[in-house]
Amino acid sequence: MPRKSRGMKERNYVLKRRFQHRIALLFPSTYEASLSSLGYQIIYYYLNSFSDVFAERVISGEGEPVSIETNTPLGKFDLILATAHYELDYEEIVSSLLKAGIEPFAEKRNWPPLILGGPVITANPSPMAKIADAFFLGEFEASGDSFVNSLSHLNRGEKEEFLESFSDVRGALTLFKRRREIARVSDLDSAFFPIAQLQNEDVEPVWGRSFMLETARGCGRGCLFCLEAAVSGPRRERSINKMKKMIEEGLEENGVSKVTFFSLSFFDSSAGDELLNALIDMGIEGSIPSVRADAINEERARMIREIGQKTVAIAPETGKEGLRERIGKRISDERILEAARALAKYGLSVKLYYMFGLPGEEKDDLDAIASQVAEIKSMMGKKGKVKVSANPFIPKPLTPMWKQGMMPLDELRRRAKYIKDKLRGIAEVEIYDPRIAWKQYEININGEDAYKLIIEGALKKVRSDANW
Ligand code: SF4
Repeated sequence: MPRKSRGMKERNYVLKRRFQHRIALLFPSTYEASLSSLGYQIIYYYLNSFSDVFAERVISGEGEPVSIETNTPLGKFDLILATAHYELDYEEIVSSLLKAGIEPFAEKRNWPPLILGGPVITANPSPMAKIADAFFLGEFEASGDSFVNSLSHLNRGEKEEFLESFSDVRGALTLFKRRREIARVSDLDSAFFPIAQLQNEDVEPVWGRSFMLETARGCGRGCLFCLEAAVSGPRRERSINKMKKMIEEGLEENGVSKVTFFSLSFFDSSAGDELLNALIDMGIEGSIPSVRADAINEERARMIREIGQKTVAIAPETGKEGLRERIGKRISDERILEAARALAKYGLSVKLYYMFGLPGEEKDDLDAIASQVAEIKSMMGKKGKVKVSANPFIPKPLTPMWKQGMMPLDELRRRAKYIKDKLRGIAEVEIYDPRIAWKQYEININGEDAYKLIIEGALKKVRSDANW
């Protein structure tokens, strides 16, 4: 039954009267983003599947940090779990602590304990070492049962006892256990997955209102810059029969008529084509946020069109094949054009993702971005649009390109302007601010000392939050 939460028309949210442990799931972004975060929802429903645990959502970017479910202030929880997706989430997390009157430094904080997880933490927890009491590395549901067992030691004022018990959880990183191990689910079919998901009648998530289905985890392609592939480990797939059943139940439980597929490279799944055919047979809409260019052919472009998707995002990363090869993304220029041709044939628009500031990148490489975009644009004709997103290369810990360093900020700015000028009149282009990209890199290279940057950024956020 749909239930309406205070002030918002939500479906499938959880309320409990009797429970033993009240946990805040702190989301370091907006409410809209939380609706599209499958990982956040997996933790929410997983924890709430235990009768003695009540996990509530607290959204950081929205004034006073109180829970959506019961308006409970962040400081009143027994434990705070937060997930960071990129380095600037750290400032959001700390600003929420400050706004809630919670001591940001773990050593001085008595209560509540703060445990951090997420892909950037799995890659490099050091920047938050002075702020978090402990970390969780990897996939939460892989260790969920032992995490819930550790809660039996969660008593107000006895933080050390709890952290000692939490140390036994696979994936935990604490003062009591400094050996890093990443918790991973071995079989997706038997892993926990929420069929009922948060839906809001008034708020449209990024991918549209839909049932989110994760088809696979991990990516075996080994692009040398890719953080997602580095932290998500070996590729694991959900079986087609299981997914078909989940789709039927998911559409019903969520009152939607669309499925959004999550995976790092959708058509790498053996079930990819069959899933799209199943959607077409059922007359259901679908959306595939992540596709490799070399997986697109005419037949797949037709299926993508038939499930109602209008734009396909592909990531050539570079304009020239040689540089693309050197960063481990082995897709030829011709294959990228072939993919664009197939999409154009079915009137699909395309969003192209490029990086700039890569090691060894020359002017020719940047010129080639403009000529590749122009060629794709000319294929699209009047029906399909072309948009470009250009992002500075940010080396990420755990990836093979981490040690290659980042291009100086001034040079990145110069290259960003060059790309923008070259693409003027060809395609709409968004450029990720090189200053923000550098901030992400600085947080990682500063190790434990990064807390200074994080606290400074968090204080600025608190001061500028007009709603608070
Ligand atoms: S960039 Fe894409 S294809 Fe390459 S490793 Fe990452 S997820 Fe896989």
